[in-house]
Amino acid sequence: MKKCKDCGEDLKYIAGGISKKGNRYEAFWGCKDKDCKYSEEPTSEEVKKYDLEARMNKMEEEQIRFKEMAWFNATNASVEMAKADMGNATRDTLKANRDFFYKEHMEWFIKDIINEED
Ligand SMILES: [Zn+2]
Repeated sequence: MKKCKDCGEDLKYIAGGISKKGNRYEAFWGCKDKDCKYSEEPTSEEVKKYDLEARMNKMEEEQIRFKEMAWFNATNASVEMAKADMGNATRDTLKANRDFFYKEHMEWFIKDIINEED
């Protein structure tokens, strides 16, 4: 682990990206001590290594978000179906419909987004 040259605390790699205000910033090493202002530029090897890692983590987060959305949409679709069924739908019908939509969604996601099949 890289150490801060000012206070000796561990440094944390911050991958480049877009700030909340919409400004682009380059990757940097920042001190884990919030009161310490020390930072340094990473070498191009470090950027190659750590940015890829950061991007992979971000992709995983996006996949989780997508799954949450698919689950939410599937639940909504099954509720809409139940409404059309004039309130006769049981808890089991709701669940079966939701699972059906979720499965459809995930199959589509894996086929079209992950594997990019035609
Ligand atoms: Zn420091």
